Amino acid sequence: MSVAEKPPLSVLICAPRGFCAGVVRAIDAVEKALAIYGPPVYVRHEIVHNKYVVESLRQKGAIFVDELDEIPPTNAPVIFSAHGVPKAVPEDALRRNFFAIDATCPLVTKVHREAEVHHRRGRHVVLVGHAGHPEVVGTMGQLPEGAISLVETVADVAAFTPPDANALAYVTQTTLSVDDTREIVEALKARFPTIVGPHKEDICYATTNRQEAVKRVAPQVDAMIVVGSPNSSNSQRLREVAERAGCAAARLVLRAEDIDWTIFGNIRRLGLTAGASAPEVLVEEIIDAFAERYEVTVETVSTADESVFFPLPRELRKEAAE
Ligand code: SF4
Repeated sequence: MSVAEKPPLSVLICAPRGFCAGVVRAIDAVEKALAIYGPPVYVRHEIVHNKYVVESLRQKGAIFVDELDEIPPTNAPVIFSAHGVPKAVPEDALRRNFFAIDATCPLVTKVHREAEVHHRRGRHVVLVGHAGHPEVVGTMGQLPEGAISLVETVADVAAFTPPDANALAYVTQTTLSVDDTREIVEALKARFPTIVGPHKEDICYATTNRQEAVKRVAPQVDAMIVVGSPNSSNSQRLREVAERAGCAAARLVLRAEDIDWTIFGNIRRLGLTAGASAPEVLVEEIIDAFAERYEVTVETVSTADESVFFPLPRELRKEAAE
């Protein structure tokens, strides 16, 4: 197809999109550990939920494991992922004499500390989140068995029987849908008026900002691509937010090769964003793929400025300075 024959395509690209401060910190932690100590560096779970990122770190010498018992006795660093880990994991690492580096996002750690404070004050904790997500496993694992209950939906709230309805608190996963969570929190407050919660919900700035940008763009486009992995919670939520905001054809796409051209082959306006764990290089790859088929013009739709930065985990700051 010659350039002259290409149909026009207007791409509305969301800002902010892609990497958040917690993801940048976690990836930098693995790269810094590799630079200081050399390979191998062990990483428990995908450091962030993106196969491209994981694969590029693997090529540099990172070894990803599901559990600590897969790691042989070693002096090499063992890094915990951005999603956070149950308390039992650092305790196990200590028993095994591992040099552990915690790359848990500080905004997830903040939720862990909130849960602990509520527990110390005698409150049963309700966690609003998605079962099985590593962040939820990590947050549940901050408290003893039975001290924290998970609710995923408004129906779960209706069915929930607390040990003491007057001694309750809630915390939330950081990467939820802002709108869904508001409904669930309202249901909790309606059923348990004395429930204690964070001043502002625990959904992080990056999740909130990316969802806001999608809400602005989705009603204006024929189709929308969220660059991200299927196991990335915040990417999945962006796709749902796009659908609810009026874009029926919203899809999660990992790489350009995954684009379903039966959906995206005959549109005039495309919305584009990326989950917090998706690198910008993959956004560019998607734009390039469209540019092969369309005469593309790109317009950025910005709904917030971000300047959040988290310093590296303490162990790496010290070593880097020396
Ligand atoms: S999405 Fe939010 S909580 Fe998760 S790593 Fe990024 S900043 Fe931290």
